[in-house]
Amino acid sequence: MKFFLNPGHGGADPGSVSNGLKEKDITLLVSMRIRDILLNEYENIEIKMSRTDDRTVSLKETTDMANAWGADFFLSIHVNAGGGKGGFESFIYHKIPAKDLKETERVQQLIHAEVMKLIGGIDRGPKKKDLHVCRETEAIAVLTEMAFIDVANDAARLKDPRFLENVARGHANGVALAFGLKKKTALQKTPILGESKAAIEQMIAFVKEENPQFDEEIAKAFLEVGRLYGIRGDIAFCQSIHETGWFKFEGGTAVTPDQHNYCGLGVTKKGVKGAAFSSIREGVTAQIQHLYAYATKADLPTGEKIVDPRFHLVTRGIAPAWEDLNGRWAVPGTTYGQSILALHDKLLKFPIPIRKEEENKFLDVTFIVNGNPIPAHYMGIPTKGYIQDGRAYIPIRPFAELVGLKVAYEPKDHSISLNGRKLKTKTILETEKRSTGYCQVKEIADLFKYKLAWDQSTKTVTVVTT
Ligand SMILES: [Zn+2]
Repeated sequence: MKFFLNPGHGGADPGSVSNGLKEKDITLLVSMRIRDILLNEYENIEIKMSRTDDRTVSLKETTDMANAWGADFFLSIHVNAGGGKGGFESFIYHKIPAKDLKETERVQQLIHAEVMKLIGGIDRGPKKKDLHVCRETEAIAVLTEMAFIDVANDAARLKDPRFLENVARGHANGVALAFGLKKKTALQKTPILGESKAAIEQMIAFVKEENPQFDEEIAKAFLEVGRLYGIRGDIAFCQSIHETGWFKFEGGTAVTPDQHNYCGLGVTKKGVKGAAFSSIREGVTAQIQHLYAYATKADLPTGEKIVDPRFHLVTRGIAPAWEDLNGRWAVPGTTYGQSILALHDKLLKFPIPIRKEEENKFLDVTFIVNGNPIPAHYMGIPTKGYIQDGRAYIPIRPFAELVGLKVAYEPKDHSISLNGRKLKTKTILETEKRSTGYCQVKEIADLFKYKLAWDQSTKTVTVVTT
């Protein structure tokens, strides 16, 4: 819906002036608020305004602008003058062609009623009149006069921000109702509970770029303890980056690295040392527990003991999302959670470094299946397993033969199935002019419930099928 909004008067034309008020200021204030309400709270609405500051725009310029834009609805906001008892009234053009009259009246009446509902007072009713903006606009056009600037009682209301808010909201409600606008669903917050998304290598590299002395064990603890409590360890890690300044503990904090306090627990004011913990793991656990207290009313995971000295000070479950920590974890604060989440966004975009052992793309690996090694050659083709990007790949055919699974190759999509189950991580290696199918051993183990074991020193994967 294209909504053209016209704050009456402006610039060289102040409109009516009385009781220390200028019409042009009030119409702008109310119109900006109508715009914000509709844009913030409703979907599928486009708004163009004839002015958004104090400038002169003629009536003709205004209606030309609306017509050129192809507005669906035109609303002009005014303040009345001329004495009397005061009150609210609205106008449409007095000679609307019959085919458009019903629809225009419907829109006028809805907006009129919604404004009256919120402001109360004298209702001067919906009216018709020969007004330029209503006559010259091709779209449905309504003009409203919110109150009388020269009537003492109305002037007092015009000076009250609550009245102006009601005027704006009344108009917005009316427009939404008349044009069937859909309310936006509540803004999605980010829950504290959940699984981490960042990779450990990513977390370490992210901090090391700012702080080369960073202890990697801290990052590992965040992922491990986070997983144990069902809390986003990667975001809690970002909270610590925020609290400790990339784990440098600089910038005037009294907390020192040996306290293993990564979130200022017990630092009630600047210069206070705060709580101290015996190890990285305990410090991280205290922070995760504090988040847990905020996020849920559930009991601690089995076997866990409270190490957070401030756990009992939290109203359990009061802040399930990171954004809910604003003004709670950080007082005062309106953007604490958002700052943490912004850091987390940066973290997720940070390139994941390749670990040294993965730099050799095709690291050889030996597979032992139920005590038997997979032969290095199968029907004359080399069939050595390999590791790529940290994942072990097993040659499909010799493995299937060893464990008695049926292999099927589908030429149409080049897929390979084991006992009728299509392999997702299959890759084909071209070796010596012949090709061999490989698959991540993890996928096969998951599919057929096999047990896997990895021996780092001999680079051996053991597969047990029974
Ligand atoms: Zn006016």
